[in-house]
Amino acid sequence: MITIANYIGGQLIAPQAGKYLDNYNPAIGKVYSLCPDSDAQDVELAYQAAKSAFKGWSETPVEKRSRILLTIADKIEQQLHQFAEAESIDQGKPYWLAKNGEIPRAISNIRFFATAAEHFASEAHPMGNHAINYTTRNPIGVVACISPWNLPLYLFTWKIAPALAAGNCVVAKPSEITPMTAYLLSQVCIDSGLPPGVLNIVHGLGTKVGSTLSGHPHIKALSFTGGTKTGAEIARVAAPMFKKLSLELGGKNANIIFADCDFDKMLAETVRSSFLNQGEICLCGSRIFVERPIYQKFKDAFVNKVKADLLVGNPLDPKTQTGAIASKMHYEKVLSYIDLAKQEGGTILCGGEAIMLEGEFAEGWYIAPTVIEGLPYNCRTNQEEIFGPVVTITPFDTETEVLEMANSTEYGLASILWTENLSRAHQMAGNLKCGIVWINCWLLRDLRTPFGGVKSSGVGREGGWEAMRFFTEPKNICIKL
Ligand code: NAD
Repeated sequence: MITIANYIGGQLIAPQAGKYLDNYNPAIGKVYSLCPDSDAQDVELAYQAAKSAFKGWSETPVEKRSRILLTIADKIEQQLHQFAEAESIDQGKPYWLAKNGEIPRAISNIRFFATAAEHFASEAHPMGNHAINYTTRNPIGVVACISPWNLPLYLFTWKIAPALAAGNCVVAKPSEITPMTAYLLSQVCIDSGLPPGVLNIVHGLGTKVGSTLSGHPHIKALSFTGGTKTGAEIARVAAPMFKKLSLELGGKNANIIFADCDFDKMLAETVRSSFLNQGEICLCGSRIFVERPIYQKFKDAFVNKVKADLLVGNPLDPKTQTGAIASKMHYEKVLSYIDLAKQEGGTILCGGEAIMLEGEFAEGWYIAPTVIEGLPYNCRTNQEEIFGPVVTITPFDTETEVLEMANSTEYGLASILWTENLSRAHQMAGNLKCGIVWINCWLLRDLRTPFGGVKSSGVGREGGWEAMRFFTEPKNICIKL
């Protein structure tokens, strides 16, 4: 049984109150490690450590900060197998996905921002011969980062890397459901010579550690990724304290398929965009709209491919395409949505149930990839975020109709469009109310692009200069000539 420690002031230490939470392996439904159940005392220790480290870190030449971050990335890469295995066991995702996708992306996040910091520049605004304005961008101080369980190390590093690169010190909280890779990262930071207190990782519950961070009077910026309800609660606490907030929240993304698309390419990618990581990616397209002339063809081919390709099983088995659902609570939530879909009149075309595996996996949390049709676009199943291996398919006749359906939810994170018609693609992309549109592709990510959503999917953008700007405070200086 591994006992996870907090990483505070450069050391791995037990929570002050000595309490722990059970950490489950979702593939077998059993506790396999203990996660600190930290509280306000631990957050305060971490805050004080970060505060003490801030002067030194913010004044460290950017080249040196960058070198330390690059060392951290290199050391994760050297331990790719250990990190990928830990992520797979902790979260339930297939090992191959962690090894080829998530952990390499976490490494890229760190490298990207380590080098971005060296190129980050600010503006000057000359006023003819009268005056010149120049803007400096300074680190904020101690900032907080809170991340979810679906892409644990990837989303954790997506926040801490720009925060650290910009010269801030960080108190970070990974999800209590998937604390393991952040714990492994702590040791890597120690081994890489990150000065004590620059990054502090406090494990525990959102209602204890997370809420202490959002209500901390001296933490002036908070970057959060997670559910919309949690985001609203954080904003309620943090906004009156005038904290800078970046909130990346839930989604209910539309995947719009026109009859003129490249059918084979679309089909393969739609299976991925529906079910990769058990559908537990905020960018998955969970509402699939198909132009009526190809609806039947799509339905038959899609259901056949989902049944044939998406083997559900032990996440560590290389043949597995769909692993376990990350927690029992989430597993029950996803199953309850499948029940709701049936009550709302939906027809289950495949899946629609939990899967009981054999032997040591008999108590794991598995759900068969599920495709549902026959539901109105405005029913709860089609409006609320399920965040699991469940998609609905719906036919449409016109662009106007599909836009209305696609834009009908409270969310606005991402959309996917399949068409070979260039003008239609541009027009549709312009009219979709969301922060990201993928045309004839999905999850093609350039880390320089703005990342985030509109409506209840969030406030602010991450990625590239957006993140560097978020984690710095601009100051304009005007000199009369
Ligand atoms: P969650 O909101 O339950 O938890 C996210 C984090 O917030 C966890 O670390 C949790 O401990 C913490 N937290 C919980 N209550 C808190 C509180 N009151 N104050 C401060 N922190 C608190 O979300 P989750 O279930 O871990 O993740 C799934 C959600 O994340 C989905 O809605 C998904 O769409 C969203 N998500 C969004 C993006 C994006 O980029 N927009 C990316 C990934 C996941």
